Parts: sequence; structure tokens; C-alpha cells
Amino acid sequence: MKRDDMTNNILDNLTILYVEDDESIKKNTIVTLELLNAIIIEASNGKEGLEKFNEHIDEIDIIITDLSMPIMNGLDMIEEIKKINDDVPTLITTAHQEVSYLKKAIELNVTSYILKPIDIRDIITTVAKAMEPIKLRQELISKNEELIALNNSLEDKIKERTKELEKLASTDFLTGINNRRNFFKLSSENFENNQQNLYAVMIDIDKFKDINDKYGHNIGDEILKLTTSTISKELDKNDIFGRLGGEEFAIVYENSNEQHIEKIEKIRKDIENIKYENISFTISLGLAKKEDFDKNIDALLSRADKALYDAKGSGRNKLIFRER
Ligand code: GH3
Ligand code: MG
Ligand code: MG
Ligand code: MG
Repeated sequence: MKRDDMTNNILDNLTILYVEDDESIKKNTIVTLELLNAIIIEASNGKEGLEKFNEHIDEIDIIITDLSMPIMNGLDMIEEIKKINDDVPTLITTAHQEVSYLKKAIELNVTSYILKPIDIRDIITTVAKAMEPIKLRQELISKNEELIALNNSLEDKIKERTKELEKLASTDFLTGINNRRNFFKLSSENFENNQQNLYAVMIDIDKFKDINDKYGHNIGDEILKLTTSTISKELDKNDIFGRLGGEEFAIVYENSNEQHIEKIEKIRKDIENIKYENISFTISLGLAKKEDFDKNIDALLSRADKALYDAKGSGRNKLIFRER
């Protein structure tokens, strides 16, 4: 049998509790309902219907029941079922002469009725109509859940993207370390929090212009990256390292033992030992310690810069520690 468009697929896989004491009516109706892909749980009187309802409480979508039946009639059964679940739609099959049931059916808020003798079109339309609000509600719930999930994933994406953008805004594009802006932000925070034992190093690649001129800008870039990774290897977790611009780098770090100068000197040596495609190069470094008279990070960095200037002036490839 071809499915009727009118029902859409509202009857598909619908589980129906069908209660009818007249075996021949019951048989005929079930055959039709099963042709429509409905799953039928059958019972022959109200008491049995109630038992079946309790057994299949999670499966039953809708109840179709006869009214006049032995042991327990249809409306008494509906009354009991509604005490358990008031949401499940209830359809009664009724003959014109059964007006005596009408008042109670209305009181029980029965969803709808199907006239006897049962016309199959009538039953389809009535079931479909009874199920519509439930289907709509289910759709609404699932759409709402989808929306919530979408919203959550959107919020996650925004958070992720914001993080990425923050990272991008604080990172030097070529080398991946702190850019100038973020270096100053982090190091001035550190300056405020560390009263003593804070050091600043300014680093500048020697004769870098010559490297660019001789080997090209791309090789120059590679040397900038190599310089960055070589320095990074010697640094500790809390050291602040940034590219201030061009071939200039800076480190701010805290240290309470005297070994720290060796660590900075090691950086100079590491760079000196690099052979990148047969190219050697060196760096000059200026080191300064935070003093009581330093008002801010700029004052400390400026003394480190003076030390760097001295390193450049006295032959390059040198670390000069400018005390006071
Ligand atoms: P000094 O030893 O006195 O520091 O000499 P120097 O040649 O290193 O100094 P100078 O300031 O004259 O030249 C720096 C050069 O760095 C010039 C500039 O073209 C180059 N430079 C700046 N930024 C970049 C970059 O991102 N990539 C490359 N490849 N070169 C850069
Ligand atoms: Mg009957
Ligand atoms: Mg320079
Ligand atoms: Mg230079």
C-alpha cells in the first residue's frame, strides 16, 4: 500500500497501544495500522490495556481505545493511564449511540475520537493530528538543543580565535618570540614585581647589514631565526625574551646567583660557533642590573643599551656588563 501524503511520515514507527474487545474489528484495524508502519501493542479490555501500558511505558506514543469493554472500560483505563502519564494522546473509537460516555471523555480531556465503523482514512488523519503537537514539541526541543550546541561551539571558537589573535598581536612574525610591544609589557610587569636581582641584556647582531648584502635578505632572515632559537635554548622558563626590531633582541631575567653571567656569555659563544651554510656571524651583548635609582624598565634597558654600545665600540662579539 502506498503511503498517503497527508500523514507525512507521522505514523512511521509510531507505537500504538490499541485496546478493543471485538476481535474482528481489532484484527482489521491492526492490519491497516501495520501497513502504515505503526507498531501495535494490543489489548482486549481496559485492565489488560493498563497492564500493557505499564509494561511499555517508554515506548507507547499514542493510545487508541474502544469504550465499551468487559472488566474495565476504555474511559476508566484512560483515567488510570492519565494518572501515570498525562502527555500521551488518547483516541477513543466510538459509535454514535454511545453519548453516555461523552461527558466523562471531555472531563478526561481525551485528545480526539474515531467514529465506528472505523474508516481507515479517518484513523490516519486523527492519529496524525493527535501526534502533531508532540512531534512539533520534540522538534522544538531538538532544534533548541542544536542551537545551544551551536552557540557553545561558537563561543569556544571565538575564545580560541581571540586567543590566537592575542598571540598574533604579541608575537614577532619572523621569529615567533615576543614582539617589541609584548616584550615591554612583560618586562615592565616583571620590573614592578622584582625589587632586586633583575637583569637586562641588549643583543645586536654584528655587521648584519654585510650578511644581508653578501648573501641576500632571505639568508638574513634565516640567521635571525637561528639566532632566536640559539638564544632560546639557553634561557629559563621565566626569562623574558623579545625581538625589539631588526637584528636587535633583549632579555630580562631574574637571578640571585652569580652564575648568570656565564649563561649570557654562553649565548655569545653558541652564536659564534654557528656555521650556517658556511656563514659565521657574531653578536654583541650589553648587560645591566636593576638598581634602586632605576625608575622603570626603560632606565634599566637604556643602561644595557649603553653597555651594548661599549661592546660594539670595543671590537664586537663581546659581552659587557655595565655596573651602574
Ligand atoms: P653593527 O654591527 O654595528 O650592528 O652593524 P649592522 O650592520 O648589524 O647594523 P645596521 O643597523 O647598520 O644594520 C642592520 C641591518 O639589519 C639593516 C637591515 O636591512 C637589516 N634588517 C633589519 N630587519 C631585518 C629583517 O627582518 N630581515 C633581514 N634579513 N634584515 C633585516
Ligand atoms: Mg466494545
Ligand atoms: Mg642594530
Ligand atoms: Mg647590528
